[in-house]
Amino acid sequence: MVNENQHLLILGGVAAGMKAAAKARRESPTMKITVVTDESYISYAGCGMPYFIGDVIKDSKKTYPP
Ligand SMILES: Cc1cc2nc3c(=O)[nH]c(=O)nc-3n(C[C@H](O)[C@H](O)[C@H](O)COP(=O)(O)OP(=O)(O)OC[C@H]3O[C@@H](n4cnc5c(N)ncnc54)[C@H](O)[C@@H]3O)c2cc1C
Repeated sequence: MVNENQHLLILGGVAAGMKAAAKARRESPTMKITVVTDESYISYAGCGMPYFIGDVIKDSKKTYPP
C-alpha cells in the first residue's frame, strides 16, 4: 500500500531505477519520487554500448534502426 506522504528515493537511473520510478508513479500519482544517479544519462540502453564503442552507432542521439 502506497502512503501518499512517503518520499521514494531511488539510487540509479537505468533499467531498474527508472522501472521502479515508473511503477511507483503508476501506484501513486502524487507521491514524491526522486531518482539520483551518478551518470549523465538516464534509462540508456547498456545493451547497445558495444555498437556505440565499436562505431557501428555513430550518433548516440539517433534511434536505431533509423
Ligand atoms: C555491454 C552490455 C550488453 C548488454 N546486453 C544486454 C542484452 O542484450 N539484453 C539484456 O537484457 N541485457 C543486456 N545487458 C544488461 C543490461 O544492460 C543490464 O541488465 C541493465 O543495465 C541493468 O540495469 P540496472 O538498472 O539494474 O543497473 P545499471 O545499468 O548498472 O544501472 C545502475 C545505475 O546506478 C548508478 N549508481 C550506482 N550506485 C549509485 C549511487 N550510490 N548513487 C547514484 N547512482 C548510482 C550507476 O552509475 C548506474 O547508472 C547488457 C549490459 C552490457 C554492459
